[in-house]
Amino acid sequence: MAKYLSPLRRLADLLGGYTTFTCPAADCDLVVRLRGTTAGERRRWQEFVADHHRHRSPRKERP
Ligand SMILES: [Zn+2]
Repeated sequence: MAKYLSPLRRLADLLGGYTTFTCPAADCDLVVRLRGTTAGERRRWQEFVADHHRHRSPRKERP
């Protein structure tokens, strides 16, 4: 199932000056929200979110 961030949430982030990055993995719920960062910092976070080592899947964390 694909992740879905509601349009209202995205609009609120935009108006509040936030940048939101979500992990591209379908079963990972990692979301990073940034505000007042430089372009370089945003880029670092974008890369981290796209390629972090441990995806946050609720299913995988269960024994
Ligand atoms: Zn992930």
